[in-house]
Amino acid sequence: MSEKTFVIVGSSLAGAKAAQELRECGFDGRVVLIGAESERPYERPPLSKDYLRGESEREKARVHEEGFYRQHQIELLMGTTVTAIDPGAGRLTLEGVRELSFDRLLLTTGAEPRRLSLPGVQLDGLYYLRTLADCEAIRERLELGGQVAVIGAGWIGSEVAASGRQKGCKVTVIDPLELPNERIFGREIGEFYRDVHAQHGVELLLAQGVEAFEGDTAVRRVRTSSGRTVECDFAVVGVGVVPRVELARAAGLQVDNGIVVDERLRTSAENVFAAGDIANAWHPFYERRIRVEHWANALNQGPAAARAMLDQDVSYDRIPYFFSDQYEVGMEYSGHATERDEVVLRGDRDGGEFIAFWLKDGRVVAGMNVNVWDVNQHVQALIRSRHTVDVAALCDPDTPLESLVGEPAGR
Ligand SMILES: Cc1cc2nc3c(=O)[nH]c(=O)nc-3n(C[C@H](O)[C@H](O)[C@H](O)COP(=O)(O)OP(=O)(O)OC[C@H]3O[C@@H](n4cnc5c(N)ncnc54)[C@H](O)[C@@H]3O)c2cc1C
Repeated sequence: MSEKTFVIVGSSLAGAKAAQELRECGFDGRVVLIGAESERPYERPPLSKDYLRGESEREKARVHEEGFYRQHQIELLMGTTVTAIDPGAGRLTLEGVRELSFDRLLLTTGAEPRRLSLPGVQLDGLYYLRTLADCEAIRERLELGGQVAVIGAGWIGSEVAASGRQKGCKVTVIDPLELPNERIFGREIGEFYRDVHAQHGVELLLAQGVEAFEGDTAVRRVRTSSGRTVECDFAVVGVGVVPRVELARAAGLQVDNGIVVDERLRTSAENVFAAGDIANAWHPFYERRIRVEHWANALNQGPAAARAMLDQDVSYDRIPYFFSDQYEVGMEYSGHATERDEVVLRGDRDGGEFIAFWLKDGRVVAGMNVNVWDVNQHVQALIRSRHTVDVAALCDPDTPLESLVGEPAGR
């Protein structure tokens, strides 16, 4: 039996899956999983979708079933904040008082909502969405109906807007960009999502930011930069997240848009690793560092970090992937298209069943399947192949995608 202690800070998806992986790989030392939230680890995607609408059970969001951690001798410390780490001494501090030694440490401290700093942000009825508690507070408001102002047309804002409409609320979305998720999608697909929301009765106030929230004690109105005033009973803000780097920074670890890690997910300290939303990881495929704020990354990178902690040969190079569900529109997106020349479509855009491909130098750098399923592995293979594609064939639904994945065309 190993004498070693492996500690994981952050008991959400990446941390809980890492603890599971340590055991599945046969590590029989001490595993301690520490989380600031007083909740058994849970997944966040349902918090803007089915659970927010009251369509699924609370327990369905859990990463593991009741009893899992006990059964696998994973010490789960819930409601416990790690206040300092000392990689050199192999020691951390819990709640500013208790100390715990570790041989190896994994940081999965994730991200938190970016807060607005505007007149009126102290008013009641202004919500952010990250935790189960946040979700349940918003859910109560949605149940009452009325008017909701959603600030931000990114993923969280778009999904909350959709859930709000599905619950029968009047919804106004406000965003400084001209289209939903325009930075990721570009114009064509941004327009598609704008139209989807408009068709479902969402009022979209785009190309204008929020200037102020107004009301006596609770928010009653949102004033936008174009002079519009939006009446509301409450507001939900989804303007992105920021990585929680305080612990790592104070410990002297290298931090730059998250905790900097190599492809083995090792930080600048030999005995400390990081994974999930917090990790700005060297990506061997892209040959640069990327930080991915999505479910699949936490799901897969946590276990990869666990294997690295066990000195297994790890090189985390999964193509980034995420999914979103809004009304009857489900989609999966793969890739990392920071640069692109064009977007081409395969399928029926107006009917809402298509695949969009983002191309750079004739190669697929990202793909998104909308209400078309079981193609994701082919989309990822196309990206990975770096093959120059025949655009006509790519856009032709009768040409199997897998037939387009040829030999890499050099880099
Ligand atoms: C409402 C919502 C919907 C989403 N929907 C989707 C989706 O549809 N598709 C998709 O791909 N992704 C989605 N995501 C993103 C996805 O949930 C995240 O990428 C994922 O949760 C990241 O997991 P993580 O374990 O890295 O970090 P987090 O989930 O952020 O968890 C980090 C944990 O660490 C704890 N912690 C932080 N500091 C300390 C400390 N000092 N001591 C102890 N504990 C600490 C925090 O309390 C937290 O519990 C959604 C996110 C939200 C909020």
